[in-house]
Amino acid sequence: MTDIPPAPLALHLDSAALKANWQWLAAQSGAAACGAAIKANGYGLGAVAVMAHLQAAGCRDFFVATWAEAAELLPHLGEASLSVLHGVRADDMAFALSTPFRPVLNSPEQVARWKAANGGPCDVMIDTGMNRLGIDPNYVNAALFEGLTIETVLSHFACADEDHALNGIQLNAFRQLSAGVPARRRSLSNSAGILLGADGHFDLTRPGLALYGGLPRAEAAGHITQVVRPRAQVLQRRTVRAGESVGYGATYVAEREREAAVLNLGYADGYLRGFSGTGVALLDGTRLPVLGRISMDLTAVDVSDAPWIAEGDWVEIDFDLLSAAAQSGLSQYELLTGLGRRYERRWV
Ligand SMILES: *Cc1c(COP(=O)(O)O)cnc(C)c1O
Repeated sequence: MTDIPPAPLALHLDSAALKANWQWLAAQSGAAACGAAIKANGYGLGAVAVMAHLQAAGCRDFFVATWAEAAELLPHLGEASLSVLHGVRADDMAFALSTPFRPVLNSPEQVARWKAANGGPCDVMIDTGMNRLGIDPNYVNAALFEGLTIETVLSHFACADEDHALNGIQLNAFRQLSAGVPARRRSLSNSAGILLGADGHFDLTRPGLALYGGLPRAEAAGHITQVVRPRAQVLQRRTVRAGESVGYGATYVAEREREAAVLNLGYADGYLRGFSGTGVALLDGTRLPVLGRISMDLTAVDVSDAPWIAEGDWVEIDFDLLSAAAQSGLSQYELLTGLGRRYERRWV
């Protein structure tokens, strides 16, 4: 068999922007070390590459959700540390004990499991009001942690992207509860939490979204740079005559003759149906609005003002995360983590 042809859709990923975003977040973290959340395949960008670029920038503390995510990173760990946020189920124990990774123990049951196995260094998550993962404050006591080697005690903000009363409540709860946990370091803040102020920085911060170009709070505007630029190839150019429709459901009807380009990109690539009639492609500053519904593998855009665009040309998709979120009704997190497997991921 000859070589597989190049993919007709690509993610241009800006390693300098990724590093600069981490450096800015590290500076905002003050004296605290700045880690990185690289779960969900590095928020869709590719966890192996993200970890390598951030290690080159100086990051040494990484977080994933599951052991399968951690396993992929084992050959690339180097001198860094990696924590598995979902802790250890019984099924995880044999693998967890065979790796240098730390589980983040989230419940008395997980603590008991790790102690019984004589596990090595671990992290501990305590719940301070989110009621998601983490040890219930009622169970946080010295006896629970006896015999554990705890590297980091963590908690997680529920509303750090807003000015919400829970932020202060969680900060105070973390201060008090973490004092009773014999850990070497304390860690509370995600991207948005870093921007809430120095009180929440403690010893280690854990940004995710903002590394990848997301704006968790207004304070980040002008400091965080776009990292991800999806591009798709034109498969076909066609004339849509007045009164004709485009795509499933015939939701777009041309009032007058239009020119359409059909792109190799669809909702199976994470360009979800929320972009139907609202998304925008870009070519040399010309804005090309999406016509009608997004299909699974295809999207039509209006190229009436761009007579030079032809089959084989590449266009960029407007993926500035704030404007793409407004276009689609999706969160910045959903936009990134939904980016599918069919893109060629090209780091520049
Ligand atoms: C995902 C996650 C982060 C990163 O959050 P962002 O909002 O993306 O910065 C930090 N800590 C924990 C526990 C997480 O689950």
